Amino acid sequence: MQIILFGAPGVGKGTQAKILAKKYNIQHISTGDILRDSIRNETEFGIMAKNLMNKGELVPDELIGRLVKEFLKSTDYKQGFILDGFPRTIEQCTLLDDIFDELKIENPHFIILESDTDIIVNRLTARRQCTNCNTIISLKHVKDASTCPSCCMEGTFIKREDDDEDVVRKRLDIYRKTTFPVIDYYREKYNFIFLNAAEPVETVTQNIIDRLI
Ligand code: AMP
Repeated sequence: MQIILFGAPGVGKGTQAKILAKKYNIQHISTGDILRDSIRNETEFGIMAKNLMNKGELVPDELIGRLVKEFLKSTDYKQGFILDGFPRTIEQCTLLDDIFDELKIENPHFIILESDTDIIVNRLTARRQCTNCNTIISLKHVKDASTCPSCCMEGTFIKREDDDEDVVRKRLDIYRKTTFPVIDYYREKYNFIFLNAAEPVETVTQNIIDRLI
């Protein structure tokens, strides 16, 4: 199974992608998480991406292309994958098209999670991410964020710099300008599943599973 998950920042792509990757036993590929790991490990990619990410801007296509290719080389993605945060520009579609060709993928599932801007801004400003295992929580639901419920590490939750309100609004603007054309590009070729992401996490997951059958 191959799933390409679209949606504005903060609609819950990362959360849903992790659940679905586990359920279908497929590889979760999040370019945002790979970049954040690169920043933490101070790799060449991380150093180049850090400032742009903190400002809410996209990192260059060329860098994303190299990063995705390198990641795919080290990963068993041929059984299936769920892409979260990629492709985000028309240029990046070329790379995905190559992957479809190479693996002879004819029926990938494109899912778009939709939500209102106010809900997204509210969600992102309350979001915290574990720096050890990338688990995401919301301060609206978890009052004590001192220990990560997934990896049990203490003091690992941080607020991402790009989750500040002004940066969030800029990211939403970039999403509309650069990722909407990507959706149009693939809508001409493949079926799309549109879903309301404002529902509780479990409901959104169930709706996705129901539509994938
Ligand atoms: P995300 O975690 O998907 O919200 O991504 C966080 C940030 O990482 C984005 O705001 C971009 O700066 C960068 N990023 C992630 N994926 C991509 C991509 N496919 N193309 C360009 N920049 C990306």
